[in-house]
Amino acid sequence: MTTAGAVTVAERVALAPLTTLGVGGAARWFVEATDEAAVHAARAWAHERRVPLRVLGGGSNLVIADAGVDALVVRIALRGLTHRELGGAVELTAAAGEPWDSVVAASVERGWAGLECLSGIPGLVGATPIQNVGAYGQEVSDTVVSVRALDTATGEIAEIAAAGCGFAYRDSMFKRQSPGRFVVLAVTYRLRPGGAPTLTYADVQRHLGGRSATLAETRTAVLTIRRAKSMTLDQPDDVNRRSCGSFFLNPIVDAAQAESVTARTGDPAMPRWPQPDGRVKLSAAWLIERAGFTRGERTGAVGLSTRHTLAVVAHDGARTADVLAFARRVQDQVEQRFGVRLSPEPVIWGA
Ligand SMILES: Cc1cc2nc3c(=O)[nH]c(=O)nc-3n(C[C@H](O)[C@H](O)[C@H](O)COP(=O)(O)OP(=O)(O)OC[C@H]3O[C@@H](n4cnc5c(N)ncnc54)[C@H](O)[C@@H]3O)c2cc1C
Repeated sequence: MTTAGAVTVAERVALAPLTTLGVGGAARWFVEATDEAAVHAARAWAHERRVPLRVLGGGSNLVIADAGVDALVVRIALRGLTHRELGGAVELTAAAGEPWDSVVAASVERGWAGLECLSGIPGLVGATPIQNVGAYGQEVSDTVVSVRALDTATGEIAEIAAAGCGFAYRDSMFKRQSPGRFVVLAVTYRLRPGGAPTLTYADVQRHLGGRSATLAETRTAVLTIRRAKSMTLDQPDDVNRRSCGSFFLNPIVDAAQAESVTARTGDPAMPRWPQPDGRVKLSAAWLIERAGFTRGERTGAVGLSTRHTLAVVAHDGARTADVLAFARRVQDQVEQRFGVRLSPEPVIWGA
C-alpha cells in the first residue's frame, strides 16, 4: 500500500465482490475516492507512472476479465445532494457516488418529476450519463443539465452541458468517443416540481390499469414490474441475483435490414420501433427467444435469467470466460438465424 497526496493506493484488490456479476480478477492498483481532491490525486498518481486509470461505480454494468485489470481502479465514493430553484424548475445536483435509486426516491418524495421511471436501477449517479441510463419511458438525457467531470487528459475540471454529452440510446460521448477520458464528479438534473409522471410505457400503463397516477404510485409500479423481472437488487432472488441487468442492447438497424430480419423470422408481427432518423429498433429479447434460447437455460455455471431473457446470470463457480463464451453463443446464434449481431451493453474490462 502506498500513500500519494490525498489517496492511499492499495495493490491487488479483488474486483468481483465489487460488481453485481461477481466474476473476474483483481485490480493491480486500487483507490477509493471520497472527494474531488482524491480523484485529482489518483489521476496524478496514474499519470506519473503511465498507468491506465479506470473508474468504478457500483459495478452493475461491468464485466471484469479473469486475469484482472492492469490499471489503477478508482472507486467513486463522493457523496452529497444539493438543489436550487430556477424559473419554476428544480436543478438537483448529485455527487457521483450517490446511490442512484436514493436520488430517485428523494426526488419522488419531494414531488419533483423527471426521474420516477428510472426507479430501481442499480449503481451510482456518476455512471448515469455514461450509457444514458434509461427505462420505462425515461432516459437521464431527458433531464441532465450538465456533468461536472475531471478531464484526465488535462487534469482540469470540465463542466459539460447536456448538448456536449452526445447522448443516444444507451450511449454518450463518454462511452463512445472518449471512453475513460472523463471521471464524472457530479451530475445536475432539471426536474419539474409538481409535474406529472411520465406514463408512456405500455407495461407501466397496464400496471396502473390505464389511469393517471402520482409520482409515488409510478415509482411503486416501476419497482413492482422490475422486481417481477429480477431487475432490482433488493430482492432475495438467489437464482437471478448475479447479472449486469440486460446483457444485450436492442439493435438499431436501417429500414432495409429491418425488412430482411422480419423476412428471416417469418413473422410480420416482429416487434419493431421506428426511430426519428428512419432506422428501426428491434427487440433483442424477442430475437434471442426466436433463435431458440429459453429463460433459465444454462451452460455450466452461466445462463439466462429465469425471469428476463436479456439478463445473463453467473452462478456459483462461473468465470468471466464462461460468461463471455455464453454471450458469444447467443450473439452467434442470433446472427446465424436473423443476420443481425447483438452488441453487449456492459463495459468489459481487460478481456
Ligand atoms: C439488475 C440490474 C438492472 C439494470 N437495469 C438497468 C436499466 O433498466 N437501465 C439501464 O440503463 N441500466 C440498467 N442496468 C445497468 C446499470 O445498473 C447501469 O448502467 C448503471 O448506471 C451502472 O452504474 P454503476 O455505478 O454500477 O457503474 P459501473 O458498473 O461501476 O460502471 C459502468 C461504466 O461506467 C463507468 N463509470 C462509472 N462511474 C463513473 C464515473 N463517476 N465517471 C466516469 N465513468 C464512470 C465505468 O468506468 C464503466 O465504464 C441494470 C443493472 C442491473 C444489475
